[in-house]
Amino acid sequence: LTLETDLRRAIERDELVLHYQPQLDTLTGKVVGAEALMRWEHPEHGLVPPFKFIPLAEEIGLIGALGEWGLAEACRQMVALQAEGIELPKVSVNVSALQFNRRFIERVAQVLRETGLRPSRLELELTEGIMMDGTPSTIEALDSLIDLGVKLSIDDFGTGYSSLSYLSRFPLDELKIDRSFVVAMDKSSNDASLVLAIIAMARSMKLDLVAEGVEDREQYRFLRQHGASVSQGYMFSKPLPMDEMKPLLAPGHFRDQLQQLESGS
Ligand code: C2E
Ligand code: MG
Ligand code: MG
Repeated sequence: LTLETDLRRAIERDELVLHYQPQLDTLTGKVVGAEALMRWEHPEHGLVPPFKFIPLAEEIGLIGALGEWGLAEACRQMVALQAEGIELPKVSVNVSALQFNRRFIERVAQVLRETGLRPSRLELELTEGIMMDGTPSTIEALDSLIDLGVKLSIDDFGTGYSSLSYLSRFPLDELKIDRSFVVAMDKSSNDASLVLAIIAMARSMKLDLVAEGVEDREQYRFLRQHGASVSQGYMFSKPLPMDEMKPLLAPGHFRDQLQQLESGS
């Protein structure tokens, strides 16, 4: 109950922060994007992870406000990065199904206008639930986002109850292979097959692909070998405050690590 009261005040008290996790193209060594992940700096409980407050925010009707704050903050920080001359092609922002409505779409347009961020530098991570909703208002919202020119990614791809038909209905940009598949890949041949199928599908549909939760060399090798070159995981970096991520964006930052991985040392 107190957490609920506290969360209602978190935005005005400036207690929310975004951490960023780079997405590395291991073929080129370039950081191709970063995912913005929200944290709550609670004055007494310290850093609260999203699994503890995002569901709460959804439950008490605060997810819209939290989501709007995160969207605006990510866009502001992207523009600030550009002004510093630091290269980051795009930022990904998570969107909850419960915040996905007309008001949110209007906010996206407004934030892009106000910050001047190029729409193609903003990617929204949607869930399969949003894609499957099928109501006219959701379809209209998706079409508006596409018209705005922002990129659309499907988070946790393959974990929801969904048909694949939305993949041909909407011009998407990216699929994210869920961490649960990546984790299970080397223990279960079914999971490995699923990952291969997702890779093949993304390739033939010309979708970008990001593998989530890459932690070790075996996972890295398997994915690389089968053509999934973009990695987001602890292997390369945990999510970090913007200031701590900046050095990782320097050209060549990951070169030695990638070379070592290739040479097998
Ligand atoms: P997600 O969008 O699927 O984000 C990926 C999660 O996997 C992040 O957890 C990230 O820290 C974690 N992760 C990445 N690489 C590794 C790895 O190698 N090993 C392990 N064990 N974990 C890894 P995080 O930051 O705790 O976020 C959890 C979920 O909370 C996110 O899952 C997303 O669904 C939600 N979330 C976070 N920020 C926001 C937000 O601003 N808005 C909304 N609506 N949801 C958010
Ligand atoms: Mg995500
Ligand atoms: Mg995910």
